[in-house]
Amino acid sequence: MNYASLEGKTAFVTGGARGIGKAAARGMALSGARVAIADIDIAAAEATAEELREEGLEAFAIQCDVTDPQSAADMAAAVVKKWGRLDIAFNNAGICINTPALDMTYAEWKKVLDINLTGVFLTSQAAGRIMKEQGGGSIINTASMSGHIVNIPQPQCTYNASKAGVILLTKSLAVEWAPYHIRVNSISPGYIATDMTLSAPQEWQVRWKDLTPTGRMGTPEELVSAVVYLASDSASYTTGSDIVIDGAFTCI
Ligand code: NAD
Repeated sequence: MNYASLEGKTAFVTGGARGIGKAAARGMALSGARVAIADIDIAAAEATAEELREEGLEAFAIQCDVTDPQSAADMAAAVVKKWGRLDIAFNNAGICINTPALDMTYAEWKKVLDINLTGVFLTSQAAGRIMKEQGGGSIINTASMSGHIVNIPQPQCTYNASKAGVILLTKSLAVEWAPYHIRVNSISPGYIATDMTLSAPQEWQVRWKDLTPTGRMGTPEELVSAVVYLASDSASYTTGSDIVIDGAFTCI
């Protein structure tokens, strides 16, 4: 048995155009899966899909706004239309807005919750409906160590609340959908070097590294094996789990 094989499986990755989603999409494709790059930024998604195809991997891009139930359902249906089934859903799209709670507008609060939590629910639901019919599948959600702890120095209460929500949504769906052989798990990364973190003020980045026992941010590639594991049949008894990958940040 090849423990990490995703041969014959099909997947979608939301927020797959760049960062963590892009690395995971490539990793899943290198492990044998056919992967749909689903992103609100269709030009970036097209570029990522093209990069994968140039490596000889099977991928296509599809525009999806995870906050829109119809867009989520159409995206999942497009994977089935193209490849006949949907085995893996990596619900990874997310944003962060750093505003102190006392100054936060309702629109800011709602935007983060809509993308990070409601979006994960909507794309999980779209995938779950298909997976129930076909007899099973694996759903992986990107939570965060911010669902476990409060980050400093940046004020990000809406982000933290959204990610804590993703962790318990994951567990709830794992229990509800276990009878349908649908596994639902999450990953909780610490600070990972992507556009999201590298666009933050330098002094925050220095502080984050100081607070991390390993003394550095992780790379998107350092999350890939966990995603591939959760997607694979090796994880057949792993459901309702959250894998923290944070350079020991949450240990102290
Ligand atoms: P990123 O900003 O590089 O990528 C996010 C992607 O999501 C982009 O391609 C963007 O276009 C897409 N997206 C945004 N809104 C969308 C929507 N409404 N519908 C569809 N796609 C949308 O960020 P990243 O660092 O790769 O983050 C990916 C996930 O990992 C997010 O959920 C983030 O919260 C989480 N995360 C990141 C870190 C980190 O340190 N970078 C740590 C923990 C968790």
